[in-house]
Amino acid sequence: MNTSVEPVTSVPLLDLKAQYRGIRDEIKVALDEVCESQYFVMGPMVAGFEKEVAAYSRVDHAIGVSSGSDALLVALMALDIGPEHEVITTPFTFFATGGAIARLGATPVFCDIDPATYNLSADSVNAFIREQCVMKNGVLVNKKSNRTIKAVMPVHLFGQTADMEPLMTLAKENNLYVIEDAAQAIGAESGDGVRAGSIGDIGCFSFFPSKNLGAFGDGGMVVTQNEELAEKLRVLRVHGGKPKYYHAMIGGNFRLDALQAAVLSVKLKYLDEWTTGRQKNADRYDALFGAQCPDITAPYRIDGGRHIFNQYTVRVNHRDDLRAHLNDRKIGSEVYYPVPLHLQECFSSLGYQKGDFPVSEEAAQSVISVPVYPEVSSAQQQYVVDAIASFQKK
Ligand SMILES: *Cc1c(COP(=O)(O)O)cnc(C)c1O
Repeated sequence: MNTSVEPVTSVPLLDLKAQYRGIRDEIKVALDEVCESQYFVMGPMVAGFEKEVAAYSRVDHAIGVSSGSDALLVALMALDIGPEHEVITTPFTFFATGGAIARLGATPVFCDIDPATYNLSADSVNAFIREQCVMKNGVLVNKKSNRTIKAVMPVHLFGQTADMEPLMTLAKENNLYVIEDAAQAIGAESGDGVRAGSIGDIGCFSFFPSKNLGAFGDGGMVVTQNEELAEKLRVLRVHGGKPKYYHAMIGGNFRLDALQAAVLSVKLKYLDEWTTGRQKNADRYDALFGAQCPDITAPYRIDGGRHIFNQYTVRVNHRDDLRAHLNDRKIGSEVYYPVPLHLQECFSSLGYQKGDFPVSEEAAQSVISVPVYPEVSSAQQQYVVDAIASFQKK
């Protein structure tokens, strides 16, 4: 019980030191085990952690990789996606989602998001397919570019699954692979209780330190139910060599370090507890904002789903001024994400314009994420909500 009576004067967006304090001894033992073994790249520590993530995410295969970005990249490579292909995705996401597609010479094709969940809208994907594509010999072709659409890549933004049921149906009808960008969503569940990453052909996780399961550096994982894809992913992870030094395909160095696997394996045991902490904090914000800030749109939660609240993201008026107001009160906040991908400078050659995806563009103007990490105290949450309420009165 925290009996301290000191008034709250600041709240960071994320405080990983608080988490570390609780697990320091266990982490040190795990790290020392790797140091004693001097087995730093892949090896038994990585294999063990892969098994744990596979069980946790309810998939048959998990392959540790170097980052969430590389997870997306190697997933696309395993599906042979290249310059003659297009991949449908959301413009309202972290850059890596679109970046991975473009790095392989493929073309990201954006469809707008659902205004309530901020996730890729199945309706907008359906409209795009019906209006702008045609089926030719069993492959979906974009009429304008004449390129083949190979996959759809929904993102489970902020820790809540995208609307996977209709997206999976569309994918099936149109011969598209489904890659889940579950970087923010390990352990999240769809409305029918299916875990993020286990729904599509390949799921991608990130262990960037600010994700719910964060490494002491970079790390990632690809998961799949498909044995053949799993084998291909494993080979691509080591430059495509199988056996070693014999290359039937070109992969990369996408390996996960043993030190990261050791840290992550300790942390995974606490993940559900931390998720419960985040969910409780989200519930408390919902109640406080409901009572004190009628102008705020709290996060929408899908029926029956498991939202793991990597972020607690609200829609507000005068967002940038509010952010400055919070900053003055030493309250951490962040805008995920201020520029939708179709308006990023590096994607200007794709030919999109302002106004093409109004829901994403509106979200980019009005969202703000506030501290929801498990160790945030109720007094700190009250401080955040009071600060926002005082701004809105002005
Ligand atoms: C974090 C993140 C990634 C990239 O993960 P890294 O491990 O940082 O490379 C990709 N997509 C989304 C949606 C993310 O949030």
